Amino acid sequence: MDKFDGMRKEDFPILSESVHGRKLVYLDNAATTQKPQVVLDAIVEGYSKWNANVHRGVHHLSQVATEKHEQARKKVAEWLNAAAEEVIFTKGTTDSINMLARSFGDAMVNEGDEIIVSQLEHHSNIVPWQMLCERKKAILKVIPLREDLSIDIEAFKEMLNERTRLVSVAQVSNVLGIVNPVEEIIHYAHAKHIPVCVDGAQSVPHLAVDVKKLDCDFLVFSAHKMYGPTGLGVLYGKKEWLDKLPPAEGGGEMIEHVRWDKTTYNVLPYKFEAGTPNYIGSYAFSKAIEYVQELGIEDIAKHEEELVEYIEERVSRLERVKIYAAGQKKAGAVSFNVYRADGGLIHPFDVGVLLDRQGVAVRTGHHCAEPLIEHLGVPGTLRASVGLYNTKEDIDKLVAALERAIMMLE
Ligand code: PMP
Repeated sequence: MDKFDGMRKEDFPILSESVHGRKLVYLDNAATTQKPQVVLDAIVEGYSKWNANVHRGVHHLSQVATEKHEQARKKVAEWLNAAAEEVIFTKGTTDSINMLARSFGDAMVNEGDEIIVSQLEHHSNIVPWQMLCERKKAILKVIPLREDLSIDIEAFKEMLNERTRLVSVAQVSNVLGIVNPVEEIIHYAHAKHIPVCVDGAQSVPHLAVDVKKLDCDFLVFSAHKMYGPTGLGVLYGKKEWLDKLPPAEGGGEMIEHVRWDKTTYNVLPYKFEAGTPNYIGSYAFSKAIEYVQELGIEDIAKHEEELVEYIEERVSRLERVKIYAAGQKKAGAVSFNVYRADGGLIHPFDVGVLLDRQGVAVRTGHHCAEPLIEHLGVPGTLRASVGLYNTKEDIDKLVAALERAIMMLE
C-alpha cells in the first residue's frame, strides 16, 4: 500500500474529529497545517520535562533546553542545506520579512532606491516593503503578471537597474499555487549584483528547497505551515549578508556587552534574536522536520502534485467553474470560482459556508493577497490546499460537497 493512502491521517489526531457531524476533510493547509502526534508530544515533553530559559542558565534544565533549541537550529539548517548560524528563528514568515525590511532597509536603502516585489505576493511580502519605502522615500516596483497569471520575466528583467536594492518574491503563490521561476529571478538579479529574498511560506512545506542550489540571499517561512507549531518561523540569510546587516531588534540575547556609551552585538545568529526565543516551538518543529524527512519531501511533493492535478481534473468537470492558472505547475493549492447560468459569480463565501456545513474546510476570500485578487477582478476565490495526509477520497468529498453547494446556490 502507498504510504500516503490514508495511512498518514492516523498520525494527526485532529483529522479524526468531526465538523457538523461529518468527519473533517481538511483542505486549508496553505493557511496552516495540522500537527502530527510526534509534534504534539514534543510540546508536552518540553513543558513537562525540561522547560527553562535557554542560553543564560548554568543549571541543568537550562542546559538541556539550550541543547534542544540549538539541535533544532541544526535540523533546520540541514533541511535547507544552510549553516546553523545562517538560521534565525523568528515568529513566522511575516516577522521574518518585517525584520529583514527593517534591518536591510536601515543599512542598504536610501531615497530614490527601488525594491521589487510581484503582483501575486501575500500582504506580508508587500506591506513591510511599503512601510520601508515610506520611511526611506524609496520606490516599490511591482513585477506584472502575464495573461496566464505567471510572472512576466521579460518585464522583470527590464525593471532591474542601478537603483534596485532588493527583489522579494514568493516561490509558490499562496492563492494560485503556481510555482514561480525564482531560479530565473535570482539569476537575472544576481547578474546585476542585486540580492533576492524568497518567500518560502508555501514552498518549503511542499518542495525540496536547497538554499545553496537556489542561491537565494534570504529565505523566509513559517513552521506552522509545515506541520510544526505556530509562533515560529525562520529567516535564513547568507552569512555575508547577515554579518553586514544591523540587528532589527534590541534586547537581551542579541548583545555582547551593554555599556551606556556603546553596546556591542552578539555573534550570528543571536544578533538577530532579541529576547527569549520559542525554544519549545523550535524543538517541536525539529520533530516535524524529522517526520517529513522520514516520509521524504520528494515523495510528499509527488503525492501532493497528484492531488493538485486531481483537484483540477475533477473540479474542471463541474459546470461553470473557473480554475485560475489551470494546468500550470503548482504546489499545494488550487483557486477557483463558481458561476451561475446567467454568468454571475456565486460569492466564494457562500460556497465556502456550504462546504463547511458538509465537513469540508477550504479557504475563501482574498487570501491576504488583495492586489492579486483585484487583478483577477473578483471579490475572492475558493482555495483548496493539500497536505501530505490528504487523499483522492478527500478530493472526491470536496467535489461532492461542491456539487451540492452549487445546486443550492444556483
Ligand atoms: N507569505 C505567504 C506566501 C504565505 O502564504 C503566508 C501565509 N498565508 C505568509 C507569507 C505569512 O505567513 P505567517 O502568517 O505565518 O507569518
